[in-house]
Order: sequence, then C-alpha cells, then structure tokens
Amino acid sequence: MSTVSIQHYINGRISGGESGRTQPVTNPATGEVTGQVALASAADVDGAVAAAAAAFPAWADTPPIRRARVLFKFLELLNANKDALAEAITREHGKVFTDAQGEVARGIDIVEFACGIPQLLKGDYTEQVSSGIDNWTMRQPLGVVAGITPFNFPAMVPMWMFPVAIATGNSFILKPSPLDPSASLMIADLLKQAGLPDGVFNVVQGDKESVEALIDHPEVRALSFVGSTPIANLIYERGARHGKRVQALGGAKNHMVVMPDANFDKAVDALIGAAYGSAGERCMAISVAVLVGDVGDELVPRLAERARALKVKDGMQLDAEMGPIVTRQAHERITGYIAKGVEEGAELVVDGREFDTSATGEGCADGFWMGGTLFDHVTPEMTIYREEIFGPVLVCVRVPDVATAIELINAHEFGNGVSCFTESGSVAREFGRRIQVGMVGINVPIPVPMAWHGFGGWKRSLFGDTHAYGEEGVRFYTKQKSIMQRWSDSIDAGAEFAMPTHK
Ligand code: NAD
Repeated sequence: MSTVSIQHYINGRISGGESGRTQPVTNPATGEVTGQVALASAADVDGAVAAAAAAFPAWADTPPIRRARVLFKFLELLNANKDALAEAITREHGKVFTDAQGEVARGIDIVEFACGIPQLLKGDYTEQVSSGIDNWTMRQPLGVVAGITPFNFPAMVPMWMFPVAIATGNSFILKPSPLDPSASLMIADLLKQAGLPDGVFNVVQGDKESVEALIDHPEVRALSFVGSTPIANLIYERGARHGKRVQALGGAKNHMVVMPDANFDKAVDALIGAAYGSAGERCMAISVAVLVGDVGDELVPRLAERARALKVKDGMQLDAEMGPIVTRQAHERITGYIAKGVEEGAELVVDGREFDTSATGEGCADGFWMGGTLFDHVTPEMTIYREEIFGPVLVCVRVPDVATAIELINAHEFGNGVSCFTESGSVAREFGRRIQVGMVGINVPIPVPMAWHGFGGWKRSLFGDTHAYGEEGVRFYTKQKSIMQRWSDSIDAGAEFAMPTHK
C-alpha cells in the first residue's frame, strides 16, 4: 500500500517544512503504515508564527458578526464532511466509526457555540459612574495563540480550542498529535473553503521540538494543551515562566460509584460503555468502579459476562463496539499494567490479553488488539488503581458506604470526571457537593459538559485557571479592557490630588 505524506498547513497552504524529519502514521487495526507525518523544526514553527502574526491585525479588526459568518459557513461544510472526517479518525486512531462520528458531532457543538460570538463579546457598560463619566469593559483578542492536542480526539479536542480562539479574533496554530494527524488538515481545508483568511488558522505537525518552540516563542501569547499530566505540568510551568496564559488539561482516573439502590441494568450498561468505549482511551473513560456494600457480588459477574462478549473489531465494521489500541507501545504499556495488577494481588476476572483476534476483520492479524480486562478487589495502594492506564481495563474497588467512596475519590491525585449511580436524591445531592472533581455525573457515566458550559477537571487533571470552551474559553482567549470616559463639557477645572470619589 502506498503511504501519504502528511505535512504542515501554513498561511493557507500545505507546506513540507524544512526539518526533513518524519514519523510513520499507522492504522492500528491492521498494523500497516499508511503515511509519514512531517515533524516541524523550530524554524518551521517560526514560519507558522510569522504567518499567524501577519494575519492577526486584520482578523482582530474584522467585526465579530463577520467572523461568525465564516464559522457558520465552516459549520455547514463540517456537517457535509463529517463522515469523511470520522473515517479518517477511525483509520488512524482505531476508535469505532460511530464513536468517531460522535466525536465530530461534539466538536460541531463548539463551533455552533462560537457562532454566537457577537453576543458573547458584548461588554458591560455603566452610564454616569460619576458626573459626566461613563465606564465600560470590552474583551480583546490576545494575538497568536496555540493549541497542542492529544491523539485520543484528533477532531474534537482541537475544536474545543480554535473555534473560540478565532471567533474572538485571535490567529491560531494547531499542533496535533503525530499519531493521527490527518483530521487537522481536513479541518484546515474546510476553514479555507469557508473563507477564513490565510494565516488565521495554521497547523504545525510535530513532536516535542515543535511544542517547545511554540512555548518559547515570544509572539505566542497563550497555550491551550490537552494531554497527559506530566506534559501538561511541564507546559504549564514553562509557559508561565514566559509570562504566558496557559490552560493545560491533563490525565485522569475517573470513578463511578454504584450505590445499592441503583438501577443495576443501567449501571452495568453505563460501566461497560464508559470503560471499554474507545478502548478506554478517553480522558473521561470510567476506569474505576466503586461498588458500595454488597453491590459487587451481583455486579462483578454481570460485568464479566459483558466484558467477555464485547465485539472488538475493525472500527469500520458498523457493529464494532471497541476497536484496537492506538499503537503497539500503548498496547505494551497496558498489558504491562495488567501484569502488575496480578503481581500486586488484584483478582483478574477477565483477562483482555487472552482475546482471540480471529474475528477482528480481514487484514487485521497484525493490529494492536486486546479485549476488555476486569479486575476485582483492587485496593488504593495498587498501581492499577493509582495510575492512569488509558486502555480497556476496569478495576473494581469495594467500599462499605458512600462516605468511604467519597473519601477514596477525593484522595486521588486526579479529579477530571466522576459519576454516581443511585436512586436517592439526598445521596446524589451530597455526592455532588462533597466530591473534589471537576465534572460530576449523577446516573450519567461520562458527564462531558455541553459546549456552553466549559470542560475541565480539578487537581492534577487541569493546570491553569480556566476551563476549555464555553464562556471560560472566551475569557481565556481575550483580555479585558476597561475604558472610563469624560468629554470636555463635563470636565471640572483644576487638578485633583486626592482619590476621586463619586460626586
Ligand atoms: P501526550 O501527553 O503524550 O501528548 C499530548 C500532546 O503533547 C501531543 O501533541 C504530543 O505530541 C505532545 N507531547 C508529547 N510529549 C511531549 C513532550 N515531552 N514535550 C512536549 N510535548 C509533548 O498525550 P496523548 O497520549 O496524546 O493523550 C492521552 C492523554 O491525554 C491521557 O493522559 C488523557 O487523559 C489525556 N487527555 C486529557 C483530556 C482532558 O480534557 N483532561 C482530554 C483528552 C486526553
């Protein structure tokens, strides 16, 4: 099979860059190398920043309603091309096609939100703060901003960032994951067709070198990052040292509490979908089931039966429930965690390493396959409880009551998402109030906030002060200016040496 060359997109054109470095792109279902992605050098990043900086003044000056019209057109084009985008995602990431369609749809939500930018940018105004004086605030764009995104949502996570960034008048540089870079170029093409001026949206493909060049570049005013916690932490610290605005969303270990009064049918469905959907490679995947009282005695056998029956196959087959793992290295990391769980004394109920690959699909023998894994009687000291595995591994922890469940979750270093399944309003209310986690679901396993609410975890799942998208996103990509105005016919004579007060 021939491979494609996946390059940068700078100033409205595909560009090969000057680094000469590339990395293979693989279809995880077949193990086949399908492309080579360029890896930018610092000089390539300089070129992208120069293009973005040149495009910024005119774009920032464009009335918000006209910026919104470009986004409305982009929305139309996205809707017309959403299946092509989803297919590209499945072929490079491995997630099942219907899940990739869902990812694109949730990204589209943010574009729809950003289309409302004239309303979102309305400032505050106070007439007559003192005699003849008015005061108002406005929000203005920052300049060139960059987004560094992970492999697991190659369309949706960039769409958490750039629609809001460009709607607010910034120019944007996207640095996607080199594992599944094609979606970024499809998006760039649709933005161009929508009439976005060249240079307002750029894509720099790359690895650590391009990320460091973006952080250190004096013209890049703000960085949005989504990825693993060690890198999020690093980017936050290094960006802050340069005085930049940084929002860095990191890893997770999301718990789902099942109370004895919960609807067990719904809880089992929720756990199976949220633990094994997208092969557990979601920052909001449920990776820990916290089973309260005797719940485990009934739930664990039911979960085991369902985990064994998962339809794990090529994501392009429409009945697939779970696809392959993204890379061979990730596969090795996950099987390493399973071995560690056994070594540390957890009960391995279903072993995904024993998965039979014969039904995965034609040409899939060399793909990065594994089945769903289920552990029971996991304790908080175990590595498989503490660390983010980022694979199809669900661990069950048994606790006596809801207070212990809350204590357990609050002690974890991550605080991205959490869920509680119960039929009790008072348990739900108390849980929602006491839990130290940024996104909480009550009888909802994956409570990803809608486009206008903003996304972000607590603790070591988010470094920075603002969440992604929603009104927090608008605030992140703009700075507030306050203007106080008085015209000559109301100016009193004489200098004032004391603090002015209302007169
Ligand atoms: P990653 O941290 O390996 O990579 C993320 C981005 O950082 C990529 O663009 C990558 O090229 C770049 N990068 C990698 N190493 C770097 C380094 N040393 N210096 C500078 N840049 C570097 O993450 P991933 O494996 O692509 O994605 C999975 C992780 O992302 C998981 O931990 C998951 O929980 C997290 N994630 C978090 C959220 C959230 O909203 N909190 C959402 C999606 C994914």
